Amino acid sequence: MAEATRRGTARVPGLLIIASRTSRRLAPVVARDTQGHYEPLVPFAYYERLSRRDQATYRESDAVAAIPLEGARELAPVVEALRAALVRDDVRAVATASAEIAGRISRALGATAPVVEVLAVRPSRDWGELHGLYTQEAEAALIRVWMRTARHARVVAFRTFLRTLLHELCHHLDFEVLGLSRSFHTEGFFKRESSLFRQLVPSATGPQQASLALRGRRRRV
Ligand SMILES: [Zn+2]
Repeated sequence: MAEATRRGTARVPGLLIIASRTSRRLAPVVARDTQGHYEPLVPFAYYERLSRRDQATYRESDAVAAIPLEGARELAPVVEALRAALVRDDVRAVATASAEIAGRISRALGATAPVVEVLAVRPSRDWGELHGLYTQEAEAALIRVWMRTARHARVVAFRTFLRTLLHELCHHLDFEVLGLSRSFHTEGFFKRESSLFRQLVPSATGPQQASLALRGRRRRV
């Protein structure tokens, strides 16, 4: 089972879990919006193998389906800057826009801004490609996102890149906004990722987008 983030991540069948430092549990910073609640469905299979305490955390995570973001429209220029920077293959501009998106969303929700690192070619092994990674370092939370595919070293498509960034950011918000002691990949978690994505890219609607997060050999941890 996954253990401390400082030592990396661990695999459970089909999913990757990131664990927190339980010694530094962060209190909720904002109250949950009731619009974000929904009835959780059947939990993912690994739920059964969690401790009782972790199962409670899982259920808390699964019960929150959205992250309402006031002023999401004001982020449109920086989201567009990210899209353009990826098209230009401009890693510095990609990193700047990514950090601004993650920072502004975090601060709007009362969380600290994570450090964002944009790296080149995705690490890959037999399990697939690593798209992104969230860790808590001594100084600050760190989000790493890879900009190029492992197979052809092509620049990652805008939507995929932004989804990965938001996925990692959701781990950060689990700790700092929802006050969870661990950040699990629950259905609620993927819904929160989708909710942020839809607010930043309003044209992205429909069930296909919502289910994207659950498919494929995706490795965002
Ligand atoms: Zn993840």
